Amino acid sequence: MEEKTKCMCSSSDVRVVACSGASNVGQIANQAAIDLANEKVAGFFCLAGVAGHINGMVKSARDAGLMISIDGCPVKCAARTLQHVDIEPAIQIVITELGIEKSHELVIDEKICSRVVEKVKEELAA
Ligand code: SF4
Repeated sequence: MEEKTKCMCSSSDVRVVACSGASNVGQIANQAAIDLANEKVAGFFCLAGVAGHINGMVKSARDAGLMISIDGCPVKCAARTLQHVDIEPAIQIVITELGIEKSHELVIDEKICSRVVEKVKEELAA
């Protein structure tokens, strides 16, 4: 039944997905999405449901008023996951483009998270 396969994690029309990758920048992307959701800037959307081609979740993603992708590095797994179902994120953030070096230490730097959150807010206001 479609209703059970919709992403009900957020009712916000502005939604954010994060690559949540296995690196410092991937985890910073995830935490930044959490922070944006907690600040009620954007609803955190379940990207795995899109990647898994769950029909209701792909539809929910398509129905979003504005989609934001936050990726750790230029591979852009989050943006590409949306693009492969023909969703173009209106705002695309790549954390390494903010001058943050990628490493495989799973350390979340709160100051960098704040920079990412501020960057998203700037882009939303532009
Ligand atoms: S965008 Fe980069 S950090 Fe994120 S999941 Fe893909 S390869 Fe990993």
